[in-house]
Amino acid sequence: MKGEPDSPWPAKDVLEFAPVETSMRIPVSQSAFSSLNLHPDLLKNLASLGYEQMTPIQAQSLPAVIAGQDVIAQAKTGSGKTAAFGLGLLHRLNVKRFRVQALVMCPTRELADQVAKEIRKLGRGIHNIKVLTLCGGMPFGPQIGSLEHGAHIIVGTPGRLEEHLRKQTLRLDDLNTLVLDEADRMLEMGFEESIDAVLERAPTDRQTLLFSATYPEAIESIATKVTQSPLRVTVEAQHQTSTIRQHFFKIENKQRYTATKLLLLQHKPESSVVFCSTKRETQEVADQLVAEGFSAVALHGDLEQKARDQVLVRFANKSAAILVATDVAARGLDVEDLDAVINYHITRDAEVHVHRIGRTGRGGKKGIACTLYTDSESFKVAQIEEYLDIKVKPESLPPFNYLDKPPLKAKMATIQIDGGKKQKVRAGDLLGALTGENGVAGRQVGKIALFDNCAYVAVERDVAKVALRKISEGKIKGRSFRVRRLKG
Ligand code: AMP
Repeated sequence: MKGEPDSPWPAKDVLEFAPVETSMRIPVSQSAFSSLNLHPDLLKNLASLGYEQMTPIQAQSLPAVIAGQDVIAQAKTGSGKTAAFGLGLLHRLNVKRFRVQALVMCPTRELADQVAKEIRKLGRGIHNIKVLTLCGGMPFGPQIGSLEHGAHIIVGTPGRLEEHLRKQTLRLDDLNTLVLDEADRMLEMGFEESIDAVLERAPTDRQTLLFSATYPEAIESIATKVTQSPLRVTVEAQHQTSTIRQHFFKIENKQRYTATKLLLLQHKPESSVVFCSTKRETQEVADQLVAEGFSAVALHGDLEQKARDQVLVRFANKSAAILVATDVAARGLDVEDLDAVINYHITRDAEVHVHRIGRTGRGGKKGIACTLYTDSESFKVAQIEEYLDIKVKPESLPPFNYLDKPPLKAKMATIQIDGGKKQKVRAGDLLGALTGENGVAGRQVGKIALFDNCAYVAVERDVAKVALRKISEGKIKGRSFRVRRLKG
C-alpha cells in the first residue's frame, strides 16, 4: 500500500502499540483484497464496489480479523475501519443460522446507522443477510418486533443493547464476534458500565475487535479486560516530531494581563491553558477574563472538590475555552490536544517549562506556546535556552487593535443534572433524554461525566437552550431531576 501512486490514503508509518503481545507484520505488497482468504462472494462484491486496494488499517488488521484473532486498532473514521471489522464479521457469518452472530457497539445512533449501512453494502453479495440497529432515543417496541423476526448482525448503542439484554429481548448465545467501535468516544460519553453489562452477557469464547481513534489509559485497561492475545495495530505514528511553536515576549510586569489577552485574541485557541505562579493571580486573571466576556475558568489548590470537578469537567468537555492554572493544580489535568499554552509567569525550572508546553502540539496538531518574561526574569529564559538547546528571539506583542476583537467563547455548554450514579442515571439515559423528537442530534452532544449525585453533559452552545428544555421537560429513569446550565 505504501507508495501506491493513486491511493487516496496517505502512506503512513505503521507502528504497533507497546507492549506488543503478538507481532504480525503484513508485507507491503499484500495490499490487494484478492490476497486475502475472503469468501469469494465478498471478494466479488468488493470488486463491484470499486474497493481494490486495502487501506493501511485494513491491510494491517484484516488477515488477523479473518483468522479469528482479537484485534485492538487505533483508527479514525475515514480510515476504512468499518470494512476492517465488517468484512471479518461477514466472512465468519453462517447465513443459514438465523441467530445473532455479531454485535457492534457504537457511541451514537448516527454512527450505528452509518456502520450498519456500510456492513449491508459489504454484504450485498450474501443472500438474505439481516443487519439490525438497536439504538437509544428510538421507540423500544418496534425493536422488540424486529428482534423477534431474527437478525444476524446487530449494531447499536451500549445503553439500549444493555436494556434489551436485561429484558431478554436480545440473546447473545450464538455470538462469535463483538466489536467496540470508537471505544474512546464511548468511554467519554460515560458508557463504560453499559459496555461491561453487555460484555457480561456475551460468551467468553468469542472474537473481540476494538477500534479507537485515540488511545488514552482508560482504553488500555478496557482493552486488556476484553481481549485475549490481541494483535495491536495503528496506522498513525505515535510520536510525531514536535509541532510546538514557541514565542517569547519581553514585557513590563504591568503588561502581563494585556499581553495575555492580545495573544489569546490573536491566536484564538479553542482550548488553552494560562499558567500563573500563584493561586491569587490565577483566580484574578480568570475573574478578569470572565468579567470581559471570555469563557475562562480557574484551577488552583484553594478550590473545593466539587468546584474543582466542575472546572475540570468544563475544560475537558470544551465548555470553557481557557483554563488559568497553577503548575501544581494542573498536574492531574488529563487534557491532551491543547491549541495553546500561555506562560503568564515563566517558570524557574526548565523542565517544568517543557512539561507545560508539551501539553500542546500533540498528535501532529500544531501547538503554540507563548512565554512572557520581564527583564529580571531573563536568566530563566537563558536556562530554557540551554536546556532545550535553542536560541530565543523575543518578539513584539500583537498589535493593540486585537483588543477590539470579541472575547473567546467555548464551543460547548455544560448542563448539570442533579442526579448521578447513586440515582442509577446512565449516560444512555441522558443521551436518550436529550435526543429524539424536538431534541438535539447525537452529534451535538459532547462528553458526559457521571458523578455520584450529579452528571454533566456537554452540548453544542447553539443548541444549549433546546437541550435544557428537552431534558427538563422529559423524565430520566422515570423521575424529574433538577437541571441547569452552568454559567460561562
Ligand atoms: P470508514 O473509515 O469505515 O468510515 O470508511 C471510510 C470510507 O471509505 C467509506 O465510505 C468506505 O466505503 C470507504 N472505503 C473503505 N475501505 C475502502 C477501500 N479499501 N477502497 C475504497 N474505499 C473504501
